[in-house]
Amino acid sequence: MAAIYDRVALIGLGLIAGSMALAMRRAGLAGEIVGHARTAETRAIAAEIGLVDRVCATAAEAATGADLVVLCVPIGAMEAVAREIAPALKPGATVSDVGSVKGAVIAAIAPQLPAGVHFIPAHPLAGTEYSGPRSGFATLFDNRWCILVPGRADRVQVDRLTALWQGMGANVDEMEAEHHDLVLAVVSHTPHLIAYTMVGVADHLRRVSNSEVIKYSASGFRDFTRIAASDPTMWRDVFLTNKEATLDILGRFTEELFMLQRAIRMGDGDQLHAYFTRTRAIRRGIIEAGQDTAAPDFGRTGAAS
Ligand code: NAP
Repeated sequence: MAAIYDRVALIGLGLIAGSMALAMRRAGLAGEIVGHARTAETRAIAAEIGLVDRVCATAAEAATGADLVVLCVPIGAMEAVAREIAPALKPGATVSDVGSVKGAVIAAIAPQLPAGVHFIPAHPLAGTEYSGPRSGFATLFDNRWCILVPGRADRVQVDRLTALWQGMGANVDEMEAEHHDLVLAVVSHTPHLIAYTMVGVADHLRRVSNSEVIKYSASGFRDFTRIAASDPTMWRDVFLTNKEATLDILGRFTEELFMLQRAIRMGDGDQLHAYFTRTRAIRRGIIEAGQDTAAPDFGRTGAAS
C-alpha cells in the first residue's frame, strides 16, 4: 500500500503507539515514523528495539514537520503535550489522539492547537493489560473498531485518517464525543470498575481463605484479575474524566444487582433463569459480530476500552 502520510509522529511510546508503529510498518502506511516518550528509559528501549525510525528528545521535535501527530499519552497528560507541540506543528498537519475518553480529552487538546491544523480525535477499541514500549504488536487493531470523533473537521483529512486506521486493520466508525463516552462507559469503563471491585473483594476474602483464591482462580475470577491488572494511571484518568457516564451506568448496574440479589433471596428461579437466558443471547451476538478474542478483555472486545 502507498504511504498515506509522509511523516507520522507518535507522542508516547507505549502499548498503543507501539502497536500503531508496527501496524503502520506492516502495511507501509507512513514514509517515516518518529516518536517521543517522557522518560529517557522508554526512549532508549524504543531506539534499541527499532520501534520507530527516529526517537526524538522532545515532543516538539517529534512534531516538527510531521503530517500526522498522534498523542498516545495518558489522558491526564494530553493537555500539556498538546500545548508543547502546538508551536512546532506545520500548517495543514493533522493532530489526533487515542484517548479512551473523548469529551474531556477534546476539551483539553482543542484550545491548545493553532488555526490551520486539523484536529481529528480517535479511539481504537483495542488493548491489553500490558503497557510500555515492549508491549505493542502489529495485529492489535485487526478487526477491532476505531471510533473517530471528527466534529466539523475537514472531510478529506477525516477520510485520510480513516484510511490509515483501516490500513492498520481496524474498522472505522464516527460518533459524537458524548455518545462515545456513554457507550464506552457501558462496554468498557464500568466493567473494568466491577473487575477492580471483584478482585478487591477477593483480596479481603484471601485473608480468611488464604491461598484458595489463587488456587481455584480458573473459574471466571481469573479473567477479572487480568482486567484488574490494567494500567492504574490510565484507568484512574478514565474514571476522573468520564465521570458522569460511568456514574450513570454504575447506578443502573446497582439496580440490576439488587434485583438479582432479591431474586436469590426469594428463591425466584424463574427470574434468574430468564435473566441469564437474556445475557447468554447477548454473548452469542458478540461472537457472531466477530468481536470475541481468545482471552476475554473488556479493552479488546466490541465497542471497548
Ligand atoms: P502506556 O503503554 O502506558 O504508554 C504511555 C506512553 O505515554 C509511555 O510511553 C509514556 O512514556 C508516555 N507518556 C506519559 N506521559 C507523557 C508525557 N507527559 N509526555 C510524553 N510522553 C508521556 O499507555 P497506552 O496503553 O499506550 O495508553 C496510551 C493512551 O491510549 C491513553 O490515553 C489510553 O487512554 C489510550 N488507550 C489505551 C488502551 C489500552 O487498553 N491500553 C486502549 C485504547 C486507548 P514513559 O514510558 O517514558 O513514561
